Amino acid sequence: MDDTPGLFGAECSTDKIAYAPAMNTLPTTVIHPERIGEEVYALVRELFPLCRSITGAGTRETLSRLGKLIPLTIYEVPSGTKVFDWTVPREWNIRDAYVKNSRGVRVIDFQKSNLHVVNYSVPVRMRTPLQELRKHLHTLPEHPDWIPFRASYYTESWGFCLRHRDLEELTEGEYEVCIESTLEDGALTYAECYLPGEHEDEVLISTHVCHPSLCNDNLSGVAVAAFLAARLQARRRKYSYRCLFIPTTIGSITWLARNEDKVGRIRHGLVLACLGDPGRSTYKKSRQGNAEIDRAVAHVLKTSGEEYEIVGFTPYGYDERQFCSPGFNLPMGCLMRTPNGRFAEYHTSADSLEFVRPEALGDSLTKCGRVVEILEGNGRYVNQNPQGEPQLGRRGLYWPPAGQHQLPTEEFALWWVLNLSDGNHSLLDIAEHSCLSFESVRRAADALLPHNLLRPAIE
Ligand code: ZN
Repeated sequence: MDDTPGLFGAECSTDKIAYAPAMNTLPTTVIHPERIGEEVYALVRELFPLCRSITGAGTRETLSRLGKLIPLTIYEVPSGTKVFDWTVPREWNIRDAYVKNSRGVRVIDFQKSNLHVVNYSVPVRMRTPLQELRKHLHTLPEHPDWIPFRASYYTESWGFCLRHRDLEELTEGEYEVCIESTLEDGALTYAECYLPGEHEDEVLISTHVCHPSLCNDNLSGVAVAAFLAARLQARRRKYSYRCLFIPTTIGSITWLARNEDKVGRIRHGLVLACLGDPGRSTYKKSRQGNAEIDRAVAHVLKTSGEEYEIVGFTPYGYDERQFCSPGFNLPMGCLMRTPNGRFAEYHTSADSLEFVRPEALGDSLTKCGRVVEILEGNGRYVNQNPQGEPQLGRRGLYWPPAGQHQLPTEEFALWWVLNLSDGNHSLLDIAEHSCLSFESVRRAADALLPHNLLRPAIE
């Protein structure tokens, strides 16, 4: 970790001066994130029951529901398609699964939770003694009331997951085992929401849609990405945006293999995952480490007024592994709250509708929105009156106008922007140097531009 959690980072000593006015002028959603969070949460709740996987009907249905919120193009990539070193697998679907005891009672029942079946289990119908059945049962003895999530995508097998407490209740004897699944040639399904902007240069947002009834990992990422796309659709866009809803690993590899011609346009990117738990925000930097997206997210977290963590790139986690593989090395980081594997509920039935919080979802969406504002609003300018300070009062640029109470932050921002706008420093550079929020610096530039005190630098 190379960033110090805190309001504006360790180097800035003017935190309080800079902080208060900036917050006063932020949208109210920052102050009441739970209000937007309720809508995001409702989408998580709607999608929760569907049995998703890396292929199949549950994922298709999830994408079709997202398509009611945002314009989505759905792609179906046939099983067997070669994608770099991988092959698109056969499609998995499941109708029912259970283990019945000798009295015909379902002691493990897929209808009660889709986590009960190992995802991608091959079809099974047999009677077997408990001793044999045990080899296919997975529990969490340390959390006896939770059902673990297990998958076997690339090795043919079958199994059930259950509460350890329920396993201990099973008596010796014969059990009827049924998994009504199919594993057949079909397709891998993914979706894109492409929103053209003024430039072809793109911002890529990616989130994984392949987990069954688990909320933080990753219906939180899916829902935040969908609402972010809806917001992007409604605003003016300098960049074009492409939001991917894909199965993890095989989905990003498939997308990259099919879109190598588009990869060169990607200027910034974010993987969204685990955005609904009550923990602090965590940003995992891109492999490049100091890309504009890394600095933009760091700025948002530093100026959030909340605890946060920034960690370096690691070649494990989510699809940043593929986007940041050395053959692509895209400027893509991963925004999370508590990272994968660092919360006890991870990949268990406890990652439930109770575990994710509307206010955390709302806060994550707000932070994504601020990142977008920085990417859209950043730029370099040249001071047109560099010999001494221009006389701001004559131009009515004191904020608010002279005679009223003055907010020093806005004046500081004007001076910083004038001083550092030499064509080399971007507005984000200036925000970092000055310990002011990007929003203040952007507003200062917007105030100076109509007075011809600044002009955009030629990029
Ligand atoms: Zn996961």
